[in-house]
Amino acid sequence: TLADTPLVIENLTKSYPGGLTAVKDLSFRVERGQVLGLLGPNGAGKTTTLRMLMGLISPTAGQIKVFGHTVTPGAPVLSRIGSFVEGSGFLPHLSGAANLRLYWASTGRPVERAHLDEALEIAGLGDAVHRKVRTYSQGMRQRLAIAQAMLGLPELLVLDEPTNGLDPPQIHQMREVLQRYAATGRTVLVSSHLLAEVEQTSTHVVVMHRGRLVAAGEVGDIVAAGGEATFRVDQP
Ligand code: ATP
Repeated sequence: TLADTPLVIENLTKSYPGGLTAVKDLSFRVERGQVLGLLGPNGAGKTTTLRMLMGLISPTAGQIKVFGHTVTPGAPVLSRIGSFVEGSGFLPHLSGAANLRLYWASTGRPVERAHLDEALEIAGLGDAVHRKVRTYSQGMRQRLAIAQAMLGLPELLVLDEPTNGLDPPQIHQMREVLQRYAATGRTVLVSSHLLAEVEQTSTHVVVMHRGRLVAAGEVGDIVAAGGEATFRVDQP
């Protein structure tokens, strides 16, 4: 039923003042346990879509339903979404674990010790969580930022380009993090402008181009159908 479906997007459109339509009549759904890659070149409308999903901006038309509840800025259902902010301003002289505790304290919400431990476990940082963040690689920082987004164990984890700037081994580790999270029955939505990254991290793909959905399906089918060719069209 709709109440069990993490995300349903229906005929979503966003026009910015000045006339640019960044998202046009976009519809797709994401089922529990999927890692859905939102793929498209710069300007395809991925960030605009994710900002509407996080309740930061309102759609011009259409709607977004999270577990059957329509997302509007300030909607209670937003508490079931966790989101990733790139290089989220960690304090370099504190450990990863201390940064997360500090972050969580600043939100004023109670976090269970078990949730903190589970988020750190899924992020796969191991003993490095006790090391100062200034010793971390870019990949470790990104995984710490994802652990931060996972702290409340949100039903829907939304990540805007978490593999940006990572090398192949780091992307592989990111894949393991996302798939471990989805294996708990929760759901991940991750954007990227590179098919090779989505192929690594995701189980399903939605390809966007100039605000519209141009392909959607299981990752293997999209790759076999030449998603890359579709997607190269407007690369700078
Ligand atoms: P990127 O990878 O560069 O973030 P994207 O697929 O996430 O690309 P968006 O950031 O959603 O794309 O941008 C889609 C289009 O909307 C672009 O043409 C962009 O210039 C435009 N746009 C984004 N934000 C605004 C805004 N606040 N006002 C006007 N136009 C905007």
